[in-house]
Amino acid sequence: MRLGISTSRVPAYNGKKRNEFGVMSRLLILFAMALGLSAANLRAQDLVALARVLPEESTLSDQGGTVELRLSLTQPVPYRVFSLDNPRRLVIDFNEVDWIGFDAEVFDKSAQVDGLRFGVFRPGWSRMVLDLVAPLSVRSAELTTSAAGPAQVILRLEPTSDELFAANAGAPEGAFVAPRAEAVEALAPLRRQIGDRPVVVVLDPGHGGIDPGAERDDAVEADLMLIFALELKETLLRTGNFKVVLTRDSDVFVPLETRVSLARQAQADVFLSLHADAIVEGRASGATIYTLSEKASDIASQKLAERHDRSDLLAGVDLSNQDDVIAAVLMDMARTETAPRSDKLADALVVGLSNTVSVHKRPRLSAGFSVLKAPDIPSVLLELGFLSSKRDRQRLEDAQWRVDAAAGIRDALLFWAAEDAADALLLRK
Ligand SMILES: [Zn+2]
Repeated sequence: MRLGISTSRVPAYNGKKRNEFGVMSRLLILFAMALGLSAANLRAQDLVALARVLPEESTLSDQGGTVELRLSLTQPVPYRVFSLDNPRRLVIDFNEVDWIGFDAEVFDKSAQVDGLRFGVFRPGWSRMVLDLVAPLSVRSAELTTSAAGPAQVILRLEPTSDELFAANAGAPEGAFVAPRAEAVEALAPLRRQIGDRPVVVVLDPGHGGIDPGAERDDAVEADLMLIFALELKETLLRTGNFKVVLTRDSDVFVPLETRVSLARQAQADVFLSLHADAIVEGRASGATIYTLSEKASDIASQKLAERHDRSDLLAGVDLSNQDDVIAAVLMDMARTETAPRSDKLADALVVGLSNTVSVHKRPRLSAGFSVLKAPDIPSVLLELGFLSSKRDRQRLEDAQWRVDAAAGIRDALLFWAAEDAADALLLRK
């Protein structure tokens, strides 16, 4: 079973067809399949080649009181539009398109849209998310095609009231919403490892797809973390003591809650989220290791956790159904046992990484990272370095440094797993 890539096994639009069309009007879902894509029109090469965005012929502009989006593509693709509230966003999903040459700043000339992201959302599906300054609704949406020329998605947005915007907001049936807490809870309880089987390590390369994470010069956090996770996986497997599962193994977006539920599905003994964020608040360089805490150890840590949660929102994840008080209580109870195990893991990582590379002068921090909230899996978030530091950036791009860092993490995990198994056996007595 290859749980590490189970996100890619989920069919893109996995809602029941009946429901998809049933909520069509309310949710502004505009399937364009019928417009330019009847089966008879599809030629074999259309199915093979990815549609490319034509940046020169694409604009987002204000037209009097309305906003017009024109996105030109080399060929028509199925797409749909919906809106999300808090913060107000308009989301457009496309059958995968190639964005090469597309520049959000050049494209977005509208004063009503103050932020724009685009990229892979799920394998085979691309997404564009517009941050709306004021509530806007879709007045019309069309896909124009010509026999030889490109296709064009044309959306016209008009002002609406806060109330109507809120009433119409929500991801359509079959869209990718993060799994709810109780769905995670419903899985069988994990059996704590006692050293009689391989330790299941879930590696979680941060960010991906529409959410690149930190970017400095040519360095992209999402890419660097994927490279490191794949290398670390090999390092861990060579010991023969671990089973390793990745939350993503390609440049794809995975919501935070999904990362946690993938870890549960994998029956993880350890969850390790890998990051290299950029930070403004005067943190020099070196690795830092975070555990979960309601109260952040400092303002920089709190901001970092908030920014990570926000990247889900900005990617267009609908979190409106997430609150579940009962599940939250259960989770707090389970964490009472898990938190000390996470702390020991973090301490071991500080030692392991200090032995092979270097850690920050204050390497143990805590904050409310959503990705660390699995109730019964010891979880830590590792900032391997900061992309805001040139020295860290060079280290992360250095293959030998990564070998050394992976060795430090391996040693820490071996040490922790042995101690944790001994603790579990003591508890049984
Ligand atoms: Zn990050």
